[in-house]
Amino acid sequence: MHGFWTALESLRSMSAVSAEWRELLDEDYEFAGQFLRPQQELANAYPCQRQPNCGCFHEVVEHGPDDFVAICVCRTGMCNPISLRRADIVVHEVAMPELAAAVASALDLTPAFAPSDIARNTLHVGLYYPHEGFRFPIYLSMCLDSNELTNMGAVLTSRNDEPFILLTPTRDLWSDALIFTIDDRKNELLALTDIVEWQDGTLRPRTSVKQVFHRFYESHVLGKVQTSSPQPFLFSADYRWAEIVIRIMDDPDKGLVHIGERQWNIDYHRMGMVDGRTGAPDHQWKLMLALAESNRRISCRNPGDADRFKQPIRRLRKTLRLLFPIPGDPLPFDNEEKAWIAAFDVAYLRSDSQSR
Ligand SMILES: [Zn+2]
Ligand SMILES: [Zn+2]
Repeated sequence: MHGFWTALESLRSMSAVSAEWRELLDEDYEFAGQFLRPQQELANAYPCQRQPNCGCFHEVVEHGPDDFVAICVCRTGMCNPISLRRADIVVHEVAMPELAAAVASALDLTPAFAPSDIARNTLHVGLYYPHEGFRFPIYLSMCLDSNELTNMGAVLTSRNDEPFILLTPTRDLWSDALIFTIDDRKNELLALTDIVEWQDGTLRPRTSVKQVFHRFYESHVLGKVQTSSPQPFLFSADYRWAEIVIRIMDDPDKGLVHIGERQWNIDYHRMGMVDGRTGAPDHQWKLMLALAESNRRISCRNPGDADRFKQPIRRLRKTLRLLFPIPGDPLPFDNEEKAWIAAFDVAYLRSDSQSR
């Protein structure tokens, strides 16, 4: 598929007549053809069909509605005029939204195609979403020369506070300056020719998606996930557990903590309730969701419940004491109800009216 990616970096406006696309794409035409869309526009130049070619684009002259000829206009021109039908000179353009969607699908991205408002000739392809709480924009450059690409890399870097990944069709236009700019902020620069290939007409990663983003993941996700530890809430007065209010949002990774007049946005990272191996919410956060769902209770009625919940509850109790330096047990066991009942107020935000 080299032909296609190279073509994207060599054609201004990504448009050409079928014959030109065929020549540019060579054997890739079979796959890449699906991304070409006929436009209203008719070409006024046509590629020479001689081998080797004369060196010029033949000029298209109209003789009738479906009758055109392409005439050699170079000095050495020994070519015969090429007679053409209307269909031959219809300009075909790359359908960028479809191409972006194919790239997003191959790389397992959340598709979100948009022309970038940050830099010219750059598309927003989608979001790399390796874990809850981590989303990174992915751009695809459509620059046609090295200087343009280097400038674009600098603009993207200066305008993006968040880490991002920049895809280019090939490595051909990468400059040292571009690589330095991208590396400097630990952003990622990847060439599609290196990371994707066509298999049975579908774009797929050459290795695995995990492998493709491995370095970026290590820089921006892994460290944060592993060091997520509970960060105590700082509040002055002597509050009791009953005055701690926790609300879980519709996005169950996130929530709010209210203490008196104060309020904090939280997520399971902030609460130190992260599975260090995967970055996903751990058992403690799942218990928090269960408490929110079931009127502050984890019931212990069924045989085996006690064994199943004892350890996780003990951990959660310890974490809660770290987060909220308040005396007393945040999760006492109620012998009558045979349940652990949160001493604090925890519920989903949507069920706010029903809690307590
Ligand atoms: Zn010619
Ligand atoms: Zn010529």
